[in-house]
Amino acid sequence: MVRVRYAPSPTGTLHIGGARTALFNYLFARHMGGKFVLRVEDTDQSRKIPGSEEAMMRGLKSVGALWDEGPDTDGAPYGPYRVSERLHRHRQAADMLLAEGHAYRCFCTPEELEEERRGRQAQGLPPRYSGRCRSLSAEEVKIRADQRSVVRLKVPLEGETVVHDIIRGEVRFENRIFDDFVIMKPDYTPVYNFAVAIDDHDMAITHVIRGEEHLPNTPKQLFVMDALGFAVPQFAHLPMILAPDRSKLSKRHGATSVEEYRDQGIILPALANYLLLLGWSSPDGQELLTLEEAVAQFSLKRVQHTAAIYDQKKLEWMSHQYMTRLSVSEIAEMARPFINYALKPQPEFEAVVDVSRERAFTLVQLAQQMRFFYEAPESYEAKGVAKHFGEGAAQRLELLAEHLAALPEWNHDSLVGAYDALSESLGVKRAALIHPTRLALTGRTVGPGLFEIVELLGRELVVERLRTAQTRIQQGNVPTFA
Ligand code: GLU
Repeated sequence: MVRVRYAPSPTGTLHIGGARTALFNYLFARHMGGKFVLRVEDTDQSRKIPGSEEAMMRGLKSVGALWDEGPDTDGAPYGPYRVSERLHRHRQAADMLLAEGHAYRCFCTPEELEEERRGRQAQGLPPRYSGRCRSLSAEEVKIRADQRSVVRLKVPLEGETVVHDIIRGEVRFENRIFDDFVIMKPDYTPVYNFAVAIDDHDMAITHVIRGEEHLPNTPKQLFVMDALGFAVPQFAHLPMILAPDRSKLSKRHGATSVEEYRDQGIILPALANYLLLLGWSSPDGQELLTLEEAVAQFSLKRVQHTAAIYDQKKLEWMSHQYMTRLSVSEIAEMARPFINYALKPQPEFEAVVDVSRERAFTLVQLAQQMRFFYEAPESYEAKGVAKHFGEGAAQRLELLAEHLAALPEWNHDSLVGAYDALSESLGVKRAALIHPTRLALTGRTVGPGLFEIVELLGRELVVERLRTAQTRIQQGNVPTFA
């Protein structure tokens, strides 16, 4: 039975890299019919940020990386799922390693270690603990029992350690680059590399799927597993996510937390879709996939080992694809929280969403672009005013208002007919009527198709807005915005 985990440290919100790691774990678990575990790695209590665990969970849910077991699942069999609540296990394991001689107490003070480090540096050697407390006698340790100490693991001095990585193949590490690293801090709480090996074992994790930045930690975890006699899980280290210029990804490149993407109005299923392509690709190159489709196709073998490049434009494109492909009612539901103006019964909300979504990448844009349906323009795009509210415009708007007020039927065809008839009788191009109308109704020069706008707004509002614009032009008082 495949069991995988995502193990965030609750030190902030869920970022793009973490969300990608969680999703890949989720997809793999689902594909294999296994379980996906959420473990909150609050090993370092001092770095814990209140509310972060909840924020992480919200973020995971919003990209669909749903866990089967975690701190919030009642009665799950491998709990507790917060590392801080597993301290007794870590202490037990450390006790055992000490008793069996796989680990030892180290009494070196920070000053002594610093001196040692400087000494090695002067000789051009890498900073590495000498292991001098390895050889303290049991007698001596007993005498110093009350002194501040840490626990260090005895690391093999020679040979090499091989990480068999599903994505990267065999990754070899020479053992001499490691020193006897600390596994228990002076307060007898574990460091990450110690706790993680025990927790993965205790939770029966079969595959450790995580970011490549953890690859250098893996040999240390293998040393711990070896000392404790644990079976080794399989490893899969996911490629880094870099900025387009291959620099470290940051906010500057538009990358941000899942919750911020949500607030920007990125369509969340599109974000999930985008994330699953950061390092993985579908066998037939399909780019738009639902999570179910990705579950069916997912394999770790298809994860690339070269860095994935984050591209904000592509994410927005993806968001746009979902904006236009999901059902109107789904988009309408998603858009509601972004509407910061009063809606009215008319025009009908879903119909407005439908004519507006073609031009929006995010829900924030969609909400902005829908605003004029519910609020008459108070000012007009300056560029448009210069072009379309000049000579003769007031008169044309007046005629239009008159015609439309008297139009027997109000539908797309009758409206097109009315504009055609009027442009013919005035001897002007239809565009000479359409552009001023759009500006009068929406305040803007671009937007959904004009006849769709007119039809949806309805006769009363259309006539009213045409007359308002007409009056403003005649009074030489047209408010503009740049
Ligand atoms: N708590 C670690 C992190 O947030 C997880 C490392 C792991 O998956 O082993 O990076």
